[in-house]
Amino acid sequence: MKDEKIYSIPVNEAFETDCECPVCAMYDRLETDAVDYAMGPSYMEADIREVTDKVGFCRKHVRMVAKKGNTLGMALVLKTHFDKVIGDVFELQKEYDAPKKSLFKKKTSGTDAVTDYIKKLECSCFVCDRVDNTFARYVDTIFYLWKSSDEFRENFKKTKGFCTSHYALLREKAPEALGQDSLNEFIKVLDALYITNMERVRDDLEWLIKRFDYRYANEPVKNSKDAIPRAVTKINSVNIEGQG
Ligand SMILES: [Zn+2]
Ligand SMILES: [Zn+2]
Repeated sequence: MKDEKIYSIPVNEAFETDCECPVCAMYDRLETDAVDYAMGPSYMEADIREVTDKVGFCRKHVRMVAKKGNTLGMALVLKTHFDKVIGDVFELQKEYDAPKKSLFKKKTSGTDAVTDYIKKLECSCFVCDRVDNTFARYVDTIFYLWKSSDEFRENFKKTKGFCTSHYALLREKAPEALGQDSLNEFIKVLDALYITNMERVRDDLEWLIKRFDYRYANEPVKNSKDAIPRAVTKINSVNIEGQG
């Protein structure tokens, strides 16, 4: 329970944020912190460098890390990651075992250690790893707070719902985190929040489209102005106006 108490502060803050998905807000904050950490003074520390050397960054996070503009930090991290990849690939190349051709099959698929290694490398990322560990605990904390805090439950009900992916995540995790009665109430609230708020953003998009018709040109903008970035958060879980 100790962790849940520590994580209550950032989780409560995210649920008090005016946004289209408080779980995205939690994730974005962890992501920003991890990117700052990767390019902060930590890159000079040997034990941190050892991890970034080994795992590198995924496509999304290498962009965010590069945008920090820390040329020396970036060069150091990349250079040592190059050393590691070159060394590993060179060793694995020696293990190549050519697929054997047979009369009956076009080719039998042999395993190729190099491609296996590169496939793993492509989905390994210092920022993802650092975020994922804490993010899983934050999600546990949502359920802990749902069970233990009336104030949190009220704030949960007052949110503008969730993005599609995090709606599914909460639905998936709920049965193992909540008892039957609590689970039924949680799912009821969660389902209603998702649909009501998806409809709200869909209606904002509809109003945005209508305003392109000259007959509506003088009508008020209402909430259509930022309908597209909010809709993208709802459906793709990203903030197209932010750095991510
Ligand atoms: Zn989300
Ligand atoms: Zn990543």
